[in-house]
Amino acid sequence: MLGVAVTVVRDGDQAALIDGGMRSSVPDVIGVLDRIPGKRPVSHILVTHAHPDHAWGLAELQAATNALVAAHQAEVAILEGTQAWPSPFAFPVLRPIPVPRGWSPQPVGIDIVLEHGSLVDVSGGVDVLHTPGHTPGSVCYFFRRTGLLYVGDALQYPNGRLAHPSRVFTRDMAGATQSIVRLAAMGPETIAFSHYPPITRQASATLKGFAASVA
Ligand SMILES: [Zn+2]
Repeated sequence: MLGVAVTVVRDGDQAALIDGGMRSSVPDVIGVLDRIPGKRPVSHILVTHAHPDHAWGLAELQAATNALVAAHQAEVAILEGTQAWPSPFAFPVLRPIPVPRGWSPQPVGIDIVLEHGSLVDVSGGVDVLHTPGHTPGSVCYFFRRTGLLYVGDALQYPNGRLAHPSRVFTRDMAGATQSIVRLAAMGPETIAFSHYPPITRQASATLKGFAASVA
């Protein structure tokens, strides 16, 4: 969806969304959801982190689906609009500059406040892994039944190689590296990213190899 993923995880007639993406992508997302039988197929919207490109469509998607929105406690105030959106840029000179008001995503109410170890009751159970670094409240989601590890921006996968998160947009690279090392213990079947195609083969070994190289 225009450079950033909004992911639909379908489980029979139920579905979860991951992130809200761009506002201009919302009609396309709803078009996908309309193909799932039932009136309210989306029970949850799982937010990976409070960066605008992951959140511009959140409020409209929540209104369209009436889903419960889940996000890490460190980013609830930003998403709910009680704290200004911080600059997504890592450069110290740009950090004090908040996201201009007109560019800030619309506030969205957070129904489920997450912390490390939370279990979300969707798709057979989703473990919440707090992976600070890219942002303070970045989380990854591990779908127990399928072994899908959704990493958002905690990792990149350019040209078929795992890489650290973007240096331009990552606040704490040392923290991000520690988070990658911890993620490697999950043993995923599939790894999905917000800006790259997924790893569907040898995901666990690939992640373990990368984590060992950066540890
Ligand atoms: Zn990001």
